[in-house]
Amino acid sequence: MPENKDDKNPNSDRLAVDAFEREINTDLNAKTHDKPKGMPLHTRIIIGLVVGVVAGITVNYLFGGTNPRVVWVIDNFTEPVGQLFLRLLLMIVVPLVFSSLVVGVAGIGDIRKLGRVGLKSFGYCLVISAISVVIGITLANTIKPGKRIDKATSDALQARYATDATKRVEDASKASATTPKPLTAVIETIIPKNPFFAVGSKEDANMLHIMFFGLIIGVAITLLPITATAPLLRVLESVYEITAKIIEIIMKFAPFAVACLLFNNTARFGLDLLQALAWFVATVLLGLAIHMFGVYSLSIYFLSRISPIDFFRRIKTVILTAFSTSSSNATLPTALRVSEENLGVPQEINSFVLTVGATANQNGTALYEGITVLFLAQLAGVDLTLAQQLMVVYLAILGGVGTAGIPSGSIPFIIGVLVTINVNPALIAIILGVDRILDMCRTTLNVTGDLTAATYVARSEGYELLKPHEPAIVHAGVTMAERSSD
Ligand code: ASP
Repeated sequence: MPENKDDKNPNSDRLAVDAFEREINTDLNAKTHDKPKGMPLHTRIIIGLVVGVVAGITVNYLFGGTNPRVVWVIDNFTEPVGQLFLRLLLMIVVPLVFSSLVVGVAGIGDIRKLGRVGLKSFGYCLVISAISVVIGITLANTIKPGKRIDKATSDALQARYATDATKRVEDASKASATTPKPLTAVIETIIPKNPFFAVGSKEDANMLHIMFFGLIIGVAITLLPITATAPLLRVLESVYEITAKIIEIIMKFAPFAVACLLFNNTARFGLDLLQALAWFVATVLLGLAIHMFGVYSLSIYFLSRISPIDFFRRIKTVILTAFSTSSSNATLPTALRVSEENLGVPQEINSFVLTVGATANQNGTALYEGITVLFLAQLAGVDLTLAQQLMVVYLAILGGVGTAGIPSGSIPFIIGVLVTINVNPALIAIILGVDRILDMCRTTLNVTGDLTAATYVARSEGYELLKPHEPAIVHAGVTMAERSSD
C-alpha cells in the first residue's frame, strides 16, 4: 500500500507499522536512541514458533508423545521455560490492569464521555459476539460434525481422557454448587466485597472484581478536584510506566519461550487426534477464519476506517503472543502497547476497552463454546429444539463475557452448558485432546476482537488512527509529556 512507504520515515506523522517492536529491539534504556539491533521482534517470534512446531511434530512423529525421553525434555526444559514466560506476563497483569484502568478512566476526564465510551464498547462487544456465535451455530448445524464421528473413535477418546474429564467436571460442579440466584450472581461476579481479596485470596486474581474497583476509582477521580487526586494519579502513572518497562524486558525473551510453548503442545499432541476429530476441528477453524478475516475486516474497514491488511500487519506481535500463550490476560500488556504505538489508539481508550475486553469480549471463545456444545449434543444423539439452540446462543454470548482469559478457560463453562441442556458433561473428554490447539486459535480472535473494538471506539470518538497522539491530559494536570520532560 502506497501510504506505508513513509512508515519508517522519522519525519512522517504516520506511526511506523512496528513502532512498538522497534522500540523493544533497542537498548533496555529508553533514553538511548540507538538503531534497532538485529531482526524485528515479530520475525524472531515467528522463527521461534516455526522451530517449536517443527521440532514438536517431528518428535511426536518419530518417538510419540509419551516416550520417556520426550516427557523428560518437556518436564525439565520446555515446560519450565514456557511457564516462566507465561507467569512473568501474568504477574504483571494485576498492577497493569489496575493502574491503566484508573489512569485511563481519569484521563477520559468527563463522566458523560466515559458513559459514551462504555456504552459503545458494550454495544460493539454484544453485537460482534452475537455474530460470532451465530456463525458457529450455523456451521455446526450445517456441517453436523457430531454425526460424522464413529462410535468406536468417540469411545476411545472418552476412555483416553476420562480421568482428566472427571476432575474437570467435579471442579466445575463445585463452582456452580455455590452459585446463588441469577441477578445476585451477576452482582457478585462483578462487584467485590473486598477488593484486596480479589487480588490476594488465591493465585488467580479475580479480574472482573479488580476491573470494577479500578473503574469506580477512576470515576470518582473525574468528579473530584485536582488537589485531592493528583498524588494517587502520579503514583499510578508511575506504576503503569514501570509495568510497561517490565513487559519490554519480558518480551525480549518471547522468541525462546514461544518455541518451548509450541514444542510442548505439539510434541505431546497426537496427530491422530486431529484425524479423529477432523470434522470438529475443521468446523471450529472455518468459523474462526470467517469471523477473523470476514467480520473483523468489515468492522475495521467500515467502522474504524483503516485498511484491514494494514491493521493485521500492525498487530502481528499481538497475534503471535495470543496464539502462543493461549491467554488473553497474558497478551493484554502487549495489546495495550501495540494498540497505542502501532495503531495510534489513545491510552485512555485502550486502557478501558482493551482491559475490560481481555476478560469480557471473547468472540473466539463464544464461537467455540457454541460449536462444541452442539457437537457434543449431536454426538450424544440429543436433538436440540430451536428454543434450546437459542438458549445455547445466549449462554455462549454470556460465555464470551464470563470466561477467564486463561488457557482452557472455556472448559468449565462448556461443562455448565452441557448440564443445562441435559447432555452428559463427561463427554467433554472427547475434545480435551484438541482443546489446546484450538485454544491458541480462539485466543487470537479474542484479542484481535478487543483491538477492533478499541479502534472503533477511538474512531467514533473523533481520534485519528495510525497517528501519534498527545498523551492524555488527566484533569489533575499529570501528563506523560510532563513526566518525560522532568
Ligand atoms: N484461552 C482463552 C483466552 O484466554 C479462553 C478460552 O476460550 O479458553 O482468551
